[in-house]
Amino acid sequence: MISRQDLESQEVEVLASYAIKSAQSQGRKFEEPEDPYRTCFQRDRDRVIHCKAFRRLNGKTQVFIAGYGDHYRSRLTHSMEVAQFGRDIARMLNLNQDLAEAIGLAHDLGHTPFGHAGQEAMHEMMEQYDSRFEHNEQSFRIVDELECKSSHYKGLNLSFEVLDGLLKHRTRYDRPEAFDHLMPSLEAQVVNVADEIAYQSHDIDDGLRSGILKIDDLLQLEICHDAKKRIQPGDESIIQRQHVLSTVMPLLVNDLAKNTERNLKMKGIETVQAIYEHGDQLAQFSAPVLKMGMELKDFLYKKFYNAPEVMRYNQEGMVVIKALFKYLHADSKKLPQKYQNRLNSEENHIVVKDYIAGMTDGFALELYERL
Ligand code: MG
Repeated sequence: MISRQDLESQEVEVLASYAIKSAQSQGRKFEEPEDPYRTCFQRDRDRVIHCKAFRRLNGKTQVFIAGYGDHYRSRLTHSMEVAQFGRDIARMLNLNQDLAEAIGLAHDLGHTPFGHAGQEAMHEMMEQYDSRFEHNEQSFRIVDELECKSSHYKGLNLSFEVLDGLLKHRTRYDRPEAFDHLMPSLEAQVVNVADEIAYQSHDIDDGLRSGILKIDDLLQLEICHDAKKRIQPGDESIIQRQHVLSTVMPLLVNDLAKNTERNLKMKGIETVQAIYEHGDQLAQFSAPVLKMGMELKDFLYKKFYNAPEVMRYNQEGMVVIKALFKYLHADSKKLPQKYQNRLNSEENHIVVKDYIAGMTDGFALELYERL
């Protein structure tokens, strides 16, 4: 059998000098005996997969679409896609795949129901109390505080590097200004971009399947140059979609890996510390692919996220979140007992926020209708 120590030595031997090695982890807040067979990051990944908040991702929307069918992405499938891209890119760069996987699986645990519209509504409610809602912070809060697995500590007691990767996970929607000291590990940076690759590619897929996006419009984009050449007249729509995805995904993944390696060489980065102290994100697309990605993002905003069909559902989601918040804030007796107990030591709006943010879309809708 292969022991944890074997795995740790393999990492030291094989991984890049700037990769995070599990044996050199800064550890957990509460000390625990090590696992005989799993490294700390493998164990963290397992803790995430087995926690309740992870299972609830299955009932949370990614983009809230009319006719919400069996094949559209949920936060759960999105998180798995992010972990897959993150692991692949980490492998290509000889980084710690287990760390990338753990961060990828946990990165959206704090998401509200109803996609980004839900997050916006929650943020508006929290602003009334001079507070805010930001899903990365909430993901951190879930694994650090809200999940329950031991009588000795709160949360999942994950390793420092996984927690750090969650806090500094940034996307267009995120507000990272609260955590501006050091740069994230290269593994966390890779997952951050993997998140973008994942949502751009699955939103193309979901957008086309829902009929909101039109393939002919999409094929005008520079990023679809190769897909356009592959698509033959008479190809079924599912084949057309596959041609787009199987050209766009590798284009983004391969460019990110190549350009990141180029950045590391150019800046002479050789250690983990140098990654932390380097002022810029090193995991980045090359300039031409960055430009193509921006064009795609703008396209998705205009034609998909802001499409009337999507907007209408978003607005419904916002109404539900705000109504639930007002109702539960005014009458805390309606909170489950577990949450009522917390009111002795925590502010009302924080407790209400934690409860609603944890809900699935279905649970929130049902509660809204019941109340
Ligand atoms: Mg995400």
